[in-house]
Amino acid sequence: MIRDQETLDQLRLVVGRFVRERLQPLEAEVATSDRIPEQLVDEMKQLGLFGMTIPEDYGGLGLTMEEEACVAMQLGQTSPAFRSIIGTNNGIGSAALVFDGTEAQKQKYLPKYATGELIGSFCLTEPDVGSDAAAVKTTAKCTGDGYILNGTKRFITNAPMAGTFTVMARTNPNEPGASGVSAFIVDADSAGVSLGPKDKKMGQAGSYTCDVIFEDVTVPVENLIGGVEGKGFATAMKVLDRGRLHIAAISVGMADRLIDDALAYAMEREQFGKPIAEHQLIQAMLADSKTEAYAARSMVLDSARKRDDGEAVSTLASCCKLFATEMVGRVADRAVQIHGGAGYIAEYAVERFYRDVRLFRLYEGTSEIQRLIIARNMIRDSV
Ligand SMILES: Cc1cc2nc3c(=O)[nH]c(=O)nc-3n(C[C@H](O)[C@H](O)[C@H](O)COP(=O)(O)OP(=O)(O)OC[C@H]3O[C@@H](n4cnc5c(N)ncnc54)[C@H](O)[C@@H]3O)c2cc1C
Repeated sequence: MIRDQETLDQLRLVVGRFVRERLQPLEAEVATSDRIPEQLVDEMKQLGLFGMTIPEDYGGLGLTMEEEACVAMQLGQTSPAFRSIIGTNNGIGSAALVFDGTEAQKQKYLPKYATGELIGSFCLTEPDVGSDAAAVKTTAKCTGDGYILNGTKRFITNAPMAGTFTVMARTNPNEPGASGVSAFIVDADSAGVSLGPKDKKMGQAGSYTCDVIFEDVTVPVENLIGGVEGKGFATAMKVLDRGRLHIAAISVGMADRLIDDALAYAMEREQFGKPIAEHQLIQAMLADSKTEAYAARSMVLDSARKRDDGEAVSTLASCCKLFATEMVGRVADRAVQIHGGAGYIAEYAVERFYRDVRLFRLYEGTSEIQRLIIARNMIRDSV
């Protein structure tokens, strides 16, 4: 749902200009330095980019899903590391509070996420718990007026900068499945919280992940999200439904950029006496990429509208994430192919993007897990 077309058009214009004029020129520098300049982060704060999805009552822009998808398609047109720094505050790092937090929890944290004063991270994955996310081993033992958390969380995006962690932990040791899991908001400076070294990743230089370790961390009872035990897994799944649509929208934006770069190169590079864009096998790659990106865009916007209309879109969000992230992998592969040997050389952005987009098929549920969700829901809905 678009609340006001003119306002959204203006936001897209501003974000599009920021991407072209401020972010794209710094892509190579960020890839080499593995660091996003502080000045850029400040500019993102000023533009309100940390609070796009935080409700207006808490200082954010309160974008609907369709509006968020439209903006994400703009943000996707540059190195994903730039999006990553604002990604958790707009998604997995704040959404548990937005959806299920108590009023006091929202008042305390959401305004600070919206301004970027506080970075929120999301802690579900563990060394032994990945796709089977309901098997969370981190424990939260009730002490009466609070909880004691113990466990290790793995690959946590933005953890080195985070001020808070949304942590999924098992409050009921006798219940090994989803209903034994609760969600907590944990301040990063709590005694007993420590970080592992930054992970050395395949791509997305400038964005960071690391382990987050909880050793006898005391968490006050008012930090149990929603104030109810046993709802943490359900909250996490709601968070991921929205996150999956966001990642799908980012994949569409990245595909647009890859297509632009591939087309520009194909029109300029000559072989056999003419631009390679005039060779039909190159045209086929361009056309397939354009078609697939258009299909993904249509899927994402349709699902986003349905979600805004109040429909349950868990299946559709998985369809979008599966198709769009696999699509951008194929588009990146073709973009490298169109560049020939140059596509393998770091000077060209497509070499970097080829590695960057590989992550989209892995986090927030792998492609295999999306397929399992889609099929499971199909079977459930048929009876
Ligand atoms: C850069 C990065 C950032 C991340 N950020 C975060 C974050 O901020 N917070 C967070 O909580 N997590 C985060 N993750 C973790 C991510 O969500 C997990 O890595 C992902 O869900 C997969 O889990 P896993 O790595 O344990 O793989 P596994 O679950 O061990 O899977 C390994 C392989 O087996 C397949 N597989 C597993 N189960 C099945 C099945 N039943 N049927 C068929 N195939 C199956 C998988 O699809 C995969 O191909 C991040 C990961 C990375 C790499």
